[in-house]
Amino acid sequence: MSETTDGTISEFELIRRYFSGRDRGLGVALGVGDDCALVSPRPGHHVAVSVDTMVLDTHFFSDQPAAAVGHKALAAALSDLAAMGAEPMGVLLAVTLPEVDEPWLQGFAEGMGELADRLRAPLIGGDTTRGPLAISVTVLGQAPSGSALRRSAARPGDLVVVSGALGGAFAGLQAELERRQAGREPPPSEDPVCQRFFRPEPRLALGKVLRGRTRTAIDVSDGLLADLGHVCVASDCGAVLQADALPRDPLLADWSPGKALAAVLSGGDDYELLFAWSARQRDELRPLASALQLPLTVIGEFTAGSGVQVLDAGGSPILPAERGFYHFGRG
Ligand code: ADP
Ligand code: MG
Repeated sequence: MSETTDGTISEFELIRRYFSGRDRGLGVALGVGDDCALVSPRPGHHVAVSVDTMVLDTHFFSDQPAAAVGHKALAAALSDLAAMGAEPMGVLLAVTLPEVDEPWLQGFAEGMGELADRLRAPLIGGDTTRGPLAISVTVLGQAPSGSALRRSAARPGDLVVVSGALGGAFAGLQAELERRQAGREPPPSEDPVCQRFFRPEPRLALGKVLRGRTRTAIDVSDGLLADLGHVCVASDCGAVLQADALPRDPLLADWSPGKALAAVLSGGDDYELLFAWSARQRDELRPLASALQLPLTVIGEFTAGSGVQVLDAGGSPILPAERGFYHFGRG
């Protein structure tokens, strides 16, 4: 073990203890320990690359379980690969730490490591520095050239489909903020309230299956209206949603209808996938959903024009089409 002169462990020992040993994977020629990692995508594949940063007090809390911070940092980054239909090849972790807090690091590494192992995303390198706590995760993925899911290929008449349920992460965050305000003890980490906000599940299996079946997907990280709006702009079309069709997270069960709808439309951090689906293939959604054991719900359709409109059961618009609905900020 290498101790520095002031008795703390060195950066290298810290990397060895907490961030090495998870760097083996199919396309990884060289993992942690050299100046760069070396990866080889399969022939005929594109490499998909993305980075996500989480900052203390903006994206997570200091008293949040460290394992949940590690899980969420990786989950948010892998969700971008899912949205492209890419399979993980490697993860790079840049951590800035105010001090070496070993119990925290242990929890963080376990939370991230458990998800990384389960989703076969090797940790192939990173950077460890001292400063205000921040975590940045870069992901590398691969998808057959030409098959990556983009935001720009939705066509009027395509169905708008979303996986899972929406609004749960927002409900979890509200519960967490109320709990802190009231000074109550945190609930056990397996409580759904904690799971939805702290432990989102990146939809990698869905993204991979969508490849070849559709060309357009996005992950819902900023809220349904905001992210569907991004697809509409990129695809140069509009969309109409049926409010009654929107899959609501069970955590919203006792919310007023208006607040629940706002959470579903604008709450962020659910990391479900939203995708365009040809109306002719509608019947294929149900078998796909049962194979994946993940609800896939048609919530509306893409239209000619621009903007996102939400209709109530009687067909009347609930929200102005152009402005969207950003009660909780624009994410
Ligand atoms: P350099 O000074 O050449 O940038 P470092 O000393 O920062 O190298 O890192 C040594 C090795 O450890 C590199 O392979 C780097 O990718 C890896 N590494 C550093 N920090 C982390 C981390 N937090 N997680 C995973 N690997 C890391
Ligand atoms: Mg470095």
